[in-house]
Amino acid sequence: MDQKRASGTDQTERYQLIVESLKEYAVFTIDKDSLVTTWNSGAEGIFLYKSDEIVGRNGDILYTPEDIAAMVPSREMKDSLADGKAINERFHVKKDRSRFWGSGIVFPLYDKQGQHIGFTKIMRNTSDAEQAETNLREEKALAELLISTYSEPIVILNSKLTVMNATPSFAQLFSLNKQTFIGKNFYQITNGSINMPQLRTRLEPVLKTNNYYTSFEVDYEHPQRGTRSVLVKPRRIYQPPNLLFSLEFEDLTDNKAVMEEKDIFISIASHEIRTPLSVIKAYGQILERELNNAKPIVKRAVLKINEQINFMSSLITALLDTSKITTGKLILEPEVFNLCSLIAEQVESFNLTQTSHQVHLPKEADLMVYADKVRTGSVITNLLSNAVKYSPNSHDVNINIEATADHRAKVSVQDFGIGIPVHEQAKLFQRFGRTDLVKQKRIPGTGLGLHLAAEIVKLQGGEIGFTSAESEGSTFYFSLPLYERPDE
Ligand code: ADP
Repeated sequence: MDQKRASGTDQTERYQLIVESLKEYAVFTIDKDSLVTTWNSGAEGIFLYKSDEIVGRNGDILYTPEDIAAMVPSREMKDSLADGKAINERFHVKKDRSRFWGSGIVFPLYDKQGQHIGFTKIMRNTSDAEQAETNLREEKALAELLISTYSEPIVILNSKLTVMNATPSFAQLFSLNKQTFIGKNFYQITNGSINMPQLRTRLEPVLKTNNYYTSFEVDYEHPQRGTRSVLVKPRRIYQPPNLLFSLEFEDLTDNKAVMEEKDIFISIASHEIRTPLSVIKAYGQILERELNNAKPIVKRAVLKINEQINFMSSLITALLDTSKITTGKLILEPEVFNLCSLIAEQVESFNLTQTSHQVHLPKEADLMVYADKVRTGSVITNLLSNAVKYSPNSHDVNINIEATADHRAKVSVQDFGIGIPVHEQAKLFQRFGRTDLVKQKRIPGTGLGLHLAAEIVKLQGGEIGFTSAESEGSTFYFSLPLYERPDE
């Protein structure tokens, strides 16, 4: 007990030491009534109030009268409680009533029992008056540098949405004449083409929250070219008050049409290949049955041919399914069934195809789901065959099935194999996403199985994911909503 108390005190002391060492940052706390409760020396330096001059006073005096009238302090507290933090980037007022641009974050503060007791504010002075001139110069230089280095359609705007600069391809994309729009308001350079109500609606929260890192797609009417879709990528270049940000545009219209054509092509080609392939497959099987008296070289050749035909036919099936998914033509046929029994059946038939691994199944239970049984079965087989394929030096695969608190049946398949390097994990559910590791090791595969599995699971209201450590193994899991019997 004493030990615990001692270490608690150490922690508080350490926290205070850190807070005190932050000379560039004002760190202070306020209680729920906005009264300042602690004040570090960084805050003394920035706001010019000594700790004993401000502790106990209302923290609103640090805001401008305009912000107080607009209820900014209470809005910040509300946002911070709702989201765990709020961005606090605005003008603040020092003891001598001069203003500076403070940039920081507000966190809610809880006591040991988890009761909300106030807020912590961390803030830096990002604009001393003498800095403003330099900032402005840097800002202009940066804008020019960007425009001269990029060829993509980019426009650079300031906080008033005045166009500071733009690349020639931006002018081209929107059929504008560059001379006519520099220095004008972004929304007023329409010429009919940048009249994008959707862009306006999407841009407003970006400006309000200072979050310049999420791209979004908008459709608009180009006067000559009809309906176009563009991906808009905002980036902040310079922080407020000399805010400068860029919008990069990527025209997706032609790409989308090409993608659609490609999907139609894949789907037709796969269909056409499937028919002759099934004939070859049937003859291959006949040949395999007649191999008893054949020379070893003939035997080997026929087995190799059949192995490759099987690979090709599963590739074609997967390609057909993926193109059905992207064109929205995959039709699921849901029914109510026991997921545990389906898994037991899948494992039984899977074991007929392999002897290298032992698949450990939990005791069978009743977990009823309403889903497409055949497609769900293919998800299970895919996870199982990956677990075996990617763990050549181990012999065990564990399956776990459980009902979760949010009314889902969750299935996990664990292996002790090669694992997936962290930097490659993001591409696994993408089409043809295979890790370099399996390509180096020449483990065969199409890179389509997990993509399909993910789409099938998501279409059925489920979730899919994995955890993995390189050289230790992976656990892939998916969940489906449990079937709830309608009340009689
Ligand atoms: P395939 O196995 O045909 O390549 P999948 O879509 O099923 O295609 O899997 C995509 C990729 O994910 C694999 O190529 C492999 O790199 C990785 N992967 C999948 N399952 C595992 C696993 N259990 N262990 C390690 N890597 C895996």
